[in-house]
Amino acid sequence: MSKEIAKRSKIEIAKAPDGLEGPGFFATKLSDVIGLARANSLWPLPFATSCCGIEFMATVASNYDLARFGMERLSFSPRQADLLMVMGTIAKKMGPTLRQVYEQMAEPRWVLSVGACASSGGIFDTYSVLQGIDRIIPVDVYVPGCPPRPEQYIEGIMKIQELAKNETIRRRDSPEYKRLLNSYGIE
Ligand code: SF4
Repeated sequence: MSKEIAKRSKIEIAKAPDGLEGPGFFATKLSDVIGLARANSLWPLPFATSCCGIEFMATVASNYDLARFGMERLSFSPRQADLLMVMGTIAKKMGPTLRQVYEQMAEPRWVLSVGACASSGGIFDTYSVLQGIDRIIPVDVYVPGCPPRPEQYIEGIMKIQELAKNETIRRRDSPEYKRLLNSYGIE
C-alpha cells in the first residue's frame, strides 16, 4: 500500500525496530524482525463456548476489524494457530479437550483468557465448572469483564502483541519456560 493511501485512510504502518539506517540499507537485530513479524501476523484459534464468544464475533466484524492486526485469518486447526483465545464458561468435562488443543499448537504459542468465566469460573462457582483455565494450561494475558467490550478484547490482543514482539528467540528453549510447562504436566 502506498504511503499516500495509508495517509488518507489513517492506516498506520507498523513501526520498524531500532537499527542502523543509511542510504540503501537498514540493519537491525534478527530477533526484533522476527518479533515484529510474529506480533503482526498472529493466527488466533477462537475456543468459544458461550456468551463471550458472541462478543468476539463483534470484535472480528467490520466495526472493530481485527484484520487491522493481521488477525483476520481465524484458525480452527491448532496446528496452524499461535494464539489460543479462550472465551466462555469451561466445564470440567471440556478441560481435557482444551488442554489437547493447547498441546497440539506449535511453539511459539500464546494464550489469552477472555472474560470472568475463562479466567476464574465467573459466576459459576459450582462443581461442574473449571475455576479458571490456568488450572490446566498456562495463560499469558487475562481480559476482565462479563462479557468484555470489544475494546477490552483488543487491549488484550495488543498486550499479546507486545509479548510476541519482545520475546527472545530462545525463550521457548529456556529452563524457566520448560519448568512452567512441567508445572502443568506438559512435556
Ligand atoms: S464471562 Fe459472562 S459473558 Fe463471558 S461467558 Fe461468562 S457469563 Fe458469559
